[in-house]
Amino acid sequence: MRKFLVFAIIIAIIPFYSNAKEDKISEMLSQVDGKILYGYVETIQNFGEHPTGSEACEKVGEFLFNEFKSFGLNVEYFEWKNGGYEGKNIIATLPGEDNSTVIISAHYDSYPTSPGADDDGSGIACLLMIAKIISNYEFKHTIKFVAFSGEEQGMLGSQVYVKYLYENGEDVIADINVDTVAHTESKEGGELIRVLSDEASLWITDIAEEMSYKYDIGLSLFRHGNFPAGDHQSFIDYGYEAVFFVEYDFNTNMHTPNDTVEHINITYLKKVCRLMLATLANIADKEFHMRIRFAEPKIGSVYINNREIFKINKNEAIVIGRINALVVPLENEELRRVEFYFDGKLKGFKYELPCEYEYRDRAFFKHEIKAVAIGNERDICRMNVFVMNFLPPGPPH
Ligand SMILES: [Zn+2]
Repeated sequence: MRKFLVFAIIIAIIPFYSNAKEDKISEMLSQVDGKILYGYVETIQNFGEHPTGSEACEKVGEFLFNEFKSFGLNVEYFEWKNGGYEGKNIIATLPGEDNSTVIISAHYDSYPTSPGADDDGSGIACLLMIAKIISNYEFKHTIKFVAFSGEEQGMLGSQVYVKYLYENGEDVIADINVDTVAHTESKEGGELIRVLSDEASLWITDIAEEMSYKYDIGLSLFRHGNFPAGDHQSFIDYGYEAVFFVEYDFNTNMHTPNDTVEHINITYLKKVCRLMLATLANIADKEFHMRIRFAEPKIGSVYINNREIFKINKNEAIVIGRINALVVPLENEELRRVEFYFDGKLKGFKYELPCEYEYRDRAFFKHEIKAVAIGNERDICRMNVFVMNFLPPGPPH
């Protein structure tokens, strides 16, 4: 009888918990304000052209630092040097119950001849709006708002930052990158948003899609496979999961002096901001039951016959001989099996975590290794390896 009572109470409480989460998101979504978003985009474009390394870029950075600070977030500069450039990323943190982190990112540098209202003043405006709202709430996971510079020169600021996260063993659950999201030219364009995601990051896209329907946001997702269009790629290179959001209609003003607020559709930007907010908030409270990562080989290390010899400034592992992989769990509930893939081809299985696996393919140059952990939930981890393996292929194992 008592067991039944406890059971009945749990069943009775569950809907309140899930409703609380939904109400929290609805409540936050109602605070997204088109006028405020427009004001942010206008402020950013009024700094004029603000390419990485310019005084205007420095000023935009200071503006962002102070805005994030005014929301009560912990804000810091992350200084970087890369490819002959230097700059600062701005990192604003809302601590969660745990140190697993969900990141939402955009870039605040503009193309050299452009005031950058859409690219990427619009993404930065979303980050500020979301930070302003979300800073009044509490979440299970830590949330970071990251404004990168150096994007237009080849994701320079994000490369250094993500390398830092990786080398410090930071547990990044996901990165949502918002880049150029405020221009439409057609009815269709006003109802669609493009999203780039690789296989391992598809779950983020799925959540965004679910959020769009659930909260009637009025945006459908136009899905692409991944390509290195922006700062999300730095996360993918280091084995993290990341997606890239961009407007559906191409903005011909992009990277020109005409990328100004006059060409911004604020109704569209507001929809995008609501979608980003709901997606971020959902992930930040999500409980994960299966998450894995490669602990070996390490990105940025050179291995010869299974021994880590030295470090190198590359965003892949370099392996002479066979690749020895070690998969470790971050969350591990009810594992059934771990599958190992080489360039998308299934090579073998293991049945517990953590586990080691030796890739026995004779292979040269750049390849992808992937592990898929399957339980009640599934998770994928992947990474690139530059391999030189002259050894004959061994039997499957
Ligand atoms: Zn951009």
